[in-house]
Amino acid sequence: MTLSDSQKAEILLQLGKVQQDLAAKPLQVGVVPIKIQCTWSSCKNGRHSLDHYHRPAAGKVVQPAGCCQDCGERIVFLPPPGQPMTLGDDSFVAVFGELQKELIRAHYWTAEFDLHAYNQAQRMGRRKLHENADKSIRTALLTDDPWWRQRAKYNGSVIAYAQHATATCCRQCAAYWHGLPRDFAVPPSEAELAFLVRLAHAYLELRFPDLADEPSKVTPISRGAGPSHSEVERLDDLVIDRLSHQEDPAGLVLAKTSGLQLASAHGSSGGWIEPTQIPLSHAGAA
Ligand SMILES: [Zn+2]
Ligand SMILES: [Zn+2]
Repeated sequence: MTLSDSQKAEILLQLGKVQQDLAAKPLQVGVVPIKIQCTWSSCKNGRHSLDHYHRPAAGKVVQPAGCCQDCGERIVFLPPPGQPMTLGDDSFVAVFGELQKELIRAHYWTAEFDLHAYNQAQRMGRRKLHENADKSIRTALLTDDPWWRQRAKYNGSVIAYAQHATATCCRQCAAYWHGLPRDFAVPPSEAELAFLVRLAHAYLELRFPDLADEPSKVTPISRGAGPSHSEVERLDDLVIDRLSHQEDPAGLVLAKTSGLQLASAHGSSGGWIEPTQIPLSHAGAA
C-alpha cells in the first residue's frame, strides 16, 4: 500500500484529535469499558467485525479478508490468507488509521482507561510501560498455545488496552489483521514482531502524551471503592439508551457491579449489540 503525504497527514491529524480528547483522564473507580468480543459489530456505526478465520455466525458465510463478517461490506485491505505482512511506514500509518473500523479495536481506542489500568501506567512510567508492552506482545504472539486468545484482559491492564486496540493481543487477531502466520508452529519474524510492538507503542504514546519517563507514586485504590447504587443505575441506563438507539457502542462503560448483560445480534444488514436482561438493580425498582 502506498499513501500520499497528505493522506498520511490526515490520518495522523485525526488520531491526534482522539489523543487530545482522551488524554490523561481515567474513569471513576469501579467503572470499566463494556466487554466487547472480537466477533461483535455495530455496522451501522462503521464498526465492523473482520475475523475472516473465525467460524461465521449462524446464517452467515465467511467473507474474504478485509470484508465485514456481518454486513459483507469491504472495509479495509487486509493481507489475504497466507500472505506475509507488509512492513514499512506506509503500512504502519495505514493500519494505524484503519484499526478503528473494527468494533473491538475502536472500543479500546475510544474508551477511557479504567482507574486500575491508568494507575499502572503512572506507576510504571513511560520507559517501563513500553518495555513491558514489548514483552507482553512477544509472549502473546510467540506462544504455541492456541488457547492464548482468552488471556488478554478486557480491563484492569493498560497493556491489554494497547494490545486489543492494535490487534496484538493474540496470534489469531494478529493473523487476520496483520498477516502473521496462523500456524502456531511457525513463529513470526523479528521484523514482524518489531512492527507490531511499534504499533502498540504508538498507541500508548497517543493515549499517554504526558506520561513521565520514570515511575510516579500513585494513591492506591481503596478496597471496595466504587460507584454508588444510583450511579451504577445511571450508567446502565446510558448504555441501554445508547444501544437501543443503535448508537456507536465503542467506548461505552459500565460499573463492574452492573448486572446488565450484553450480547451480539446479527441480521442480514449487519450486526449490533443488545442488552439481554433487565439489570438486577431495575428488577426490584419497578
Ligand atoms: Zn459490518
Ligand atoms: Zn486477540
